Amino acid sequence: MPELVFFSGTMDCGKSTLALQIEHNRSARGLQGLIYSRNDRAGRGKLSSRLGLVTEAVEAVDDMDFYVHVVDRLSSGGRVDYVIVDEAQFLGPGQIDQLARVVDDLGLDVFAFGITTDFRTKLFPGSQRLVELADRIEVLKVEALCWCGARATHNARTVDGRMVVEGAQVVVGDVRGDASGEGPDRPAEVGYEVLCRRHHRRRQTAATAHAAALSPDVLPVDAPR
Ligand SMILES: [Zn+2]
Repeated sequence: MPELVFFSGTMDCGKSTLALQIEHNRSARGLQGLIYSRNDRAGRGKLSSRLGLVTEAVEAVDDMDFYVHVVDRLSSGGRVDYVIVDEAQFLGPGQIDQLARVVDDLGLDVFAFGITTDFRTKLFPGSQRLVELADRIEVLKVEALCWCGARATHNARTVDGRMVVEGAQVVVGDVRGDASGEGPDRPAEVGYEVLCRRHHRRRQTAATAHAAALSPDVLPVDAPR
């Protein structure tokens, strides 16, 4: 039975690497995938992993109808054996419904990869719809670690190294603090860091924890709110 599978996790948990692995395994067996991504760190029309692998992808835009796009590809003589969607948290809920229709009406497996929650710990709309509709949810536990060594379960947005909890849901940046790309809506100082829930609640990033440890006047831990 074809399935809609949601591979979810934090930033930096290896989602894109797994997406590329699935693509590699299936294409090695002679299957042809249709790959979508959105706001990939390598640029438009790319699916890349932090480990340096990259493949061509269709850039998923706001008004794209995935079902129509796949049908168009098939009816123009293209071959599609399965579908991979990276950065699926950025899709609209209606686009997730279209992916479910690709599974049900076209009989194709759809593998969607996305971050579950944003920097405020709230579900992305696309991820919420995937949780509601997916046949199967795989929570990736590739060991992304908080600076304290605990398993990182939450995404923090930082501005100049300090964690923030206000702002637009989508601001493209990277977990290495490398957000110096193009785009008018991309402040250069925005970065992301994965934290355990305890340190997300206390808003302690690696940088602020380090600064606090060096200062004798500051308690190393903020009082829990
Ligand atoms: Zn921690």
